[in-house]
Amino acid sequence: MNIIVTGGAGFIGSALIRYLIQHTEHHVLNIDKLTYASNLSSLDSVKDDPRYRFIQADICDQRITELINEFRPNLIMNLAAESHVDRSIDSAAPFVQTNIIGTFNLLEASRHYYSALDDVQKQSFRFHHISTDEVYGDLHGTTDLFTEETAYHPSSPYAASKASSDHLVRAWYRTYGLSVVLTNCSNNYGSYQFPEKLIPLMILNAYEGKSLPIYGQGAQIRDWLHVDDHVEALYQVATQGKVGETYNIGGHNEIRNIDVVQQICAMMDELAPKAYAHAQLITYVTDRPGHDNRYAIDASKIAQDIGWTPKQTFATGLAKTVKWYLDNLDWCQGIAQGQYSRERLGQLETT
Ligand code: NAD
Repeated sequence: MNIIVTGGAGFIGSALIRYLIQHTEHHVLNIDKLTYASNLSSLDSVKDDPRYRFIQADICDQRITELINEFRPNLIMNLAAESHVDRSIDSAAPFVQTNIIGTFNLLEASRHYYSALDDVQKQSFRFHHISTDEVYGDLHGTTDLFTEETAYHPSSPYAASKASSDHLVRAWYRTYGLSVVLTNCSNNYGSYQFPEKLIPLMILNAYEGKSLPIYGQGAQIRDWLHVDDHVEALYQVATQGKVGETYNIGGHNEIRNIDVVQQICAMMDELAPKAYAHAQLITYVTDRPGHDNRYAIDASKIAQDIGWTPKQTFATGLAKTVKWYLDNLDWCQGIAQGQYSRERLGQLETT
């Protein structure tokens, strides 16, 4: 297959491309604008493979049509997005532009390409839109779960922009018959994640003896999934999912933010000991406006229809992740010296 991955220089996109090149025979074209959140060095292990190609381009650009027509994909996996909730609260415009207009542009280019395919080629073509559980808003009970039928109630500009893009993808299926599948996934963590997100931020701050800022009381609950499990789920949905369907992807790992940070501190005490316990660095800061209380995914549809279940528990995945960041401080250093620095962001992030 020829597979276009948009946003392939980001956290999940790069994990997906490493998986595709290392575990399949497919050819991959990575289309990425290279925003502050990207890092091409996450693809060092595959960059010289003849089945991998990178083009710097914006999914909002008309050039996308040309790239699709030239590469002739069987599968387009759309991961390009502005993805950081706090940034969307400070400035929503890039989120509306990339997440909504960019998806619209990709859908239009894909629709025209798809309409010119013959029936056999149409059968094997998929447009896979990668989305988030944040489109559902939040849960206030302790046992209810997001299913594929849960109504959309996005809280942040980020979540609203992703919800809009999901609606566009479903409309292009219903109205134009474009062959689509959608996935909505819970919070990811793992190696190569940009250190503005909760887990890498806490590991790196703890390593450097900096404060570990927690929003509110840290009581918000997220359902954590290791990125390697996510990319396997994405590949299985893209190749085995039913056209027009949505699949929720989750890790069955519901954990309060404060407990995530406490677990990181305990691992850091062991792996990078200091004269004091790392938990002493925890500081509580004013809660994020509109902060969702709890997310939790019912992933039974993907388990039943496709046979996917996560391999990592949170304990195994987190231990691997903490170790990876401590072993790859160079990768983090590269980012800190680039356009982005953790200091510049001020207050930070939980999802
Ligand atoms: P990320 O911010 O790490 O990476 C996004 C990538 O998209 C970057 O490489 C960036 O350069 C690229 N990009 C941004 N705007 C672009 C544009 N206009 N044109 C082309 N490329 C552009 O994000 P991520 O965490 O890897 O998330 C990938 C996708 O998965 C997003 O759609 C996100 O909504 C979704 N998702 C993420 C999570 C999570 O926990 N990280 C969970 C569920 C779903």
